[in-house]
Amino acid sequence: MKEYTRVFARIDLDAVVHNMQAMQANLTGGARMIGVVKTDGYGHGAVPVAQAIAPYVAGYAVATIEEARNLQLHGIDKPILILGATHPGRSRELVEYGIRPAVFTMEQARALSDAVMELNRERMAAKTAICPEPGRGKEGEPVRAYIHLAVDTGMSRIGLPCDEEGAALAAAIGKLPGICVEGIFTHFARADETDKAPAVRQWEKYRRFIEMTEAKGLTVPIHHVANSAAIIELGGTHWDMVRAGISIYGMYPSDEVERTKVKLEPVMSLHSFVTYVKDIPEGTEVSYGGIFKANRATRVATVPIGYGDGYPRNLSGKGSVLIRGRRAPILGRVCMDQFMVDVTDIPGVRADDPVTLIGRDGGEQITVEELARTGGGFHYEIVCDIGKRVPRVYVRDDRVVGTKDYFTDRYEDFIVS
Ligand SMILES: *Cc1c(COP(=O)(O)O)cnc(C)c1O
Repeated sequence: MKEYTRVFARIDLDAVVHNMQAMQANLTGGARMIGVVKTDGYGHGAVPVAQAIAPYVAGYAVATIEEARNLQLHGIDKPILILGATHPGRSRELVEYGIRPAVFTMEQARALSDAVMELNRERMAAKTAICPEPGRGKEGEPVRAYIHLAVDTGMSRIGLPCDEEGAALAAAIGKLPGICVEGIFTHFARADETDKAPAVRQWEKYRRFIEMTEAKGLTVPIHHVANSAAIIELGGTHWDMVRAGISIYGMYPSDEVERTKVKLEPVMSLHSFVTYVKDIPEGTEVSYGGIFKANRATRVATVPIGYGDGYPRNLSGKGSVLIRGRRAPILGRVCMDQFMVDVTDIPGVRADDPVTLIGRDGGEQITVEELARTGGGFHYEIVCDIGKRVPRVYVRDDRVVGTKDYFTDRYEDFIVS
């Protein structure tokens, strides 16, 4: 197992499992979970997280075809949904690999239908089994495109318009040859707010849209609406499936979301080591721009992580880290690869002392939410932005079960053929 001596993110897979169980216990009406692992599992590592949550999910959701393919290439064999728009030019790959796109225009749907026809023609001509990729179908069975219709009930991002015309379009898409409408979904814009009225309005629009499409002869097996906020607080919207994202990673969607019903445990902690300790006299400036000037004799420790690793620069002069169980305030600007902290009041700090940037040390804890609050940032963004210079160390039952780093560029291994 590799030892990382500069910085690493510890990913607690027991906390992931705990969070899945906590959510599952809160689901209503037999709803099943879709695990959202976009942006490399919100920066935690999509593949290890997907593996850890496999017993609890019916499938996965990602943002891009490459993210879907990466999961498949790592042996993840449950259905994978792409939540955003996929270019019609990628239809053949979607069909070949059985990746479920979010569909909301006739152009997209036709391209998928055409890809199905083309693939089936080729299979008939070749009279051979195509290699058993997930979703490619069994030998002798025709290929189909499994799609999820996206409905715009208030995000104004993607989705069919939520009216009679949209419903007619949905029904027409459902009739295209080779298309199987497996799911139909919408997304809440404001489910994480105390006032649930806007979310409830979206839910009611969605329900009416489903009635309209059913009246036009389209029935869809899987309805899914709820994100983490709705999993926690809007049980009435769980229906067939829910899409769990941020809650897998042990964070609440916002400060307004109830924290007692579903108890979440943080998954990521971020660690480094002191590289250098020195004493500076009163009046000495620290870091770029001299925005910090010591007003007393100060003991300064240097920490080898910076905004180049995704540690937010907006914590300059505001944030703190934990060393020897105590808070050490950040002095001056966070640089690209390093920053300095004040350890005057922490006795005995030496080079190689562990530094906790996110997580617990003794009785102290720094959460991602605290970093977001302190720096004026957003907690989802902070974890997504933890960069490629930060190796991930996976822990289960207090044991390191795997490590993953991005130190060498080997992207050619992952190009979709
Ligand atoms: C990202 C995303 C989710 C997950 O949202 P969380 O707030 O992280 O639970 C669910 N659905 C869609 C469409 C998304 O884009």
